[in-house]
Amino acid sequence: MHYGFRVINDLRSGLSHYLDDMKFASPNEIIGKALPSIVSHDQLPRKRMRSQIHKDLCIGCDLCYVACRDGGHNAIDRLENRIAHIEWERCVGCGLCNFVCPVDGCIEMMEWK
Ligand code: SF4
Ligand code: SF4
Repeated sequence: MHYGFRVINDLRSGLSHYLDDMKFASPNEIIGKALPSIVSHDQLPRKRMRSQIHKDLCIGCDLCYVACRDGGHNAIDRLENRIAHIEWERCVGCGLCNFVCPVDGCIEMMEWK
């Protein structure tokens, strides 16, 4: 979402290099190999994280709002002056908002306690 469709060429190139490195002849040889490792999000072996917005740094660009909404979690609302606000109970800690925010230090991933 952040880079647009041009990222597909990078993905194709990365996959091609990965297949070469791992001595696979085609993508068909790796289809389904990860299925035994798939678990629900809550079962992932990592700390539960949530994002936090430092409102004093937010410029109201909406990038986090759009990314979180289009990513399916819809955990960010906009306050007055378009300042972003996290609804923590809906945040799953994916970090996408942190990735797209153009302001250094504006969004921080925090451990959920
Ligand atoms: S961490 Fe993910 S779910 Fe949480 S607010 Fe950011 S984009 Fe939304
Ligand atoms: S991406 Fe960053 S600066 Fe833009 S609205 Fe979200 S928190 Fe504010």
